[in-house]
Amino acid sequence: MSPIDVMPCRERLEPVRVLELADQLPGLIFQLHRSADGHLHFPLLMGSGIQLLDLEPERLAENAKPALEQIHEDDYPALMAAIERSERECTPIILKFRFHLKASRCRWIAVRAQPQRTETGVLWHGMMLDISEQVAEEERLRQLSDSDALTGLANRRKLLARLDEEISLSNRHATPLSLVMIDLDHFKAINDTWGHLQGDAVLRELADCCRMLLREEDLLARLGGEEFALLLPLTSQGNAAQLAERLRRVIADHHFEGVGSGRITVSLGITEHRVGDARDNLLQRADASLYRAKHRGRNRVVADD
Ligand code: GH3
Ligand code: MG
Ligand code: MG
Repeated sequence: MSPIDVMPCRERLEPVRVLELADQLPGLIFQLHRSADGHLHFPLLMGSGIQLLDLEPERLAENAKPALEQIHEDDYPALMAAIERSERECTPIILKFRFHLKASRCRWIAVRAQPQRTETGVLWHGMMLDISEQVAEEERLRQLSDSDALTGLANRRKLLARLDEEISLSNRHATPLSLVMIDLDHFKAINDTWGHLQGDAVLRELADCCRMLLREEDLLARLGGEEFALLLPLTSQGNAAQLAERLRRVIADHHFEGVGSGRITVSLGITEHRVGDARDNLLQRADASLYRAKHRGRNRVVADD
């Protein structure tokens, strides 16, 4: 057992032992100084996290620039703004940012630092921790909560959130936005004849058929059951109708495995966003178009009048 493990709690560590301990910390403790002319440097850097930075502490003691240059370009402005705000309002810096390492790897770092005004400028006392695993786990959970388990498409929750964003953009910039509702025709009969598991396989295959025809910015979601919605930013109703017709045809021509003739069709209803539309108006109009497509005989595309 090392001397530290057996040390009685009341006994104080000698200063030199404190320094040794600080170097073992699984992160970084630092002081960051900013002089009146804006020059930044790290008078103090301790902890095993220094190895992660892969920069020489002696260089950073003179100038923080080599470290700042490795901060992800999307996070750099927020970090600089946080430093400015902390200095101006004398409040702590609380932030996370991405840091480029060699071999193009990138790590997420959380920083917390308390400012102190000094005669020469501002001195922050802080800590940094590598939180990359935690951020990856958060991203995995977010993906799960946004996606449909059966098809891997976005779920209703994700569609509604994205719809709000796109409606707001469309209102602000007067750009077109279309919504397509898609519903399988006579799907109950597929389940009743071939079984629920086979029905599930059809839903997955259908999702794959649609994916192939879409752009990166389009969002296809499974709303539930055998209903899907397709959100098409920057797309007029006319263009949405062309795409919907292509989807209809690809699905009608596709051979679905394990369901007799392999033929399955969908009905599609389209609407376009009108300035001032609430989300529910758009959903209702697309539903009404879909209803008309069913009513007129299924396996067809119907747009708003
Ligand atoms: P329509 O052409 O009018 O849309 O007829 P339909 O039979 O497709 O519509 P209906 O609403 O009568 O039936 C939908 C069926 O979808 C009922 C149910 O058996 C099936 N269904 C709903 N969710 C799932 C699912 O997750 N998996 C499977 N396999 N079937 C589902
Ligand atoms: Mg149906
Ligand atoms: Mg339905």
